[in-house]
Amino acid sequence: MDLDQKKFFIFDLDGVLVDSTRLSCQKVELILERLGLPSIPRSFLIKHWGMKMSDMFNLIGKEIGASQGEIKTMNEMEPQVSLELPYIFPRENFEALLSLRLLEYYVGLLTSRSNASLQQVMTQTGMPSSLFHKVQTTDHWPHHKPSGRAFGPFANWAAAHGFRPEHMVYFGDTISQDLRATQNYEWPIDFVGVVSGVNTREEFLDAGVQLCRIIDFADLPNFLYKIMRQKTEIQSKLKTKVKI
Ligand SMILES: [Mg+2]
Repeated sequence: MDLDQKKFFIFDLDGVLVDSTRLSCQKVELILERLGLPSIPRSFLIKHWGMKMSDMFNLIGKEIGASQGEIKTMNEMEPQVSLELPYIFPRENFEALLSLRLLEYYVGLLTSRSNASLQQVMTQTGMPSSLFHKVQTTDHWPHHKPSGRAFGPFANWAAAHGFRPEHMVYFGDTISQDLRATQNYEWPIDFVGVVSGVNTREEFLDAGVQLCRIIDFADLPNFLYKIMRQKTEIQSKLKTKVKI
């Protein structure tokens, strides 16, 4: 199914709507530095990026030999250190999502952030939660990416609005979490890979994503406008036919 026939556009937050990968790596490095703990290679962070932050801190703690108490402090410091970094929700992304809504597409957000963490980044970047028809954090549902069941509530929501899982498409920046989740759902969900610091174009290709469904972070708005143009062109052609 072509992307212009989709009805429900669901986005990951980090690395897709907000170019946060590099900043979030810096955040982890700052926390370790302030706790006087050993540093961790960027490659380690990138390899595991996209999972819940608390799981990430457990993994980092294990890797560098931090105590349970230190891991707890990492989690506690995270929201404050996050505020020190310049996360930005580009105006172009905001306008493209708004345009999707105006063209009567549904817009969803599926993130591995907690409620509190999402709230914080939304306040920080001026992203209104009303931009989305449905938002799901790790607090809303017990199943998280890369489990396919993370998409269960979205599929139910879609069914309640009269369409099917094949009308959904997910935009994600990681193979291990985002792409896998779409593949692990009972009906595979369409996927667009966003290249923003975790996985490269080549890695998405190797993982089976079509070239036409791999974009750079900065290309997201134009990619969405192209889909919207296709839809409006089809609609106007249909109208012309009806008139004849
Ligand atoms: Mg992400």
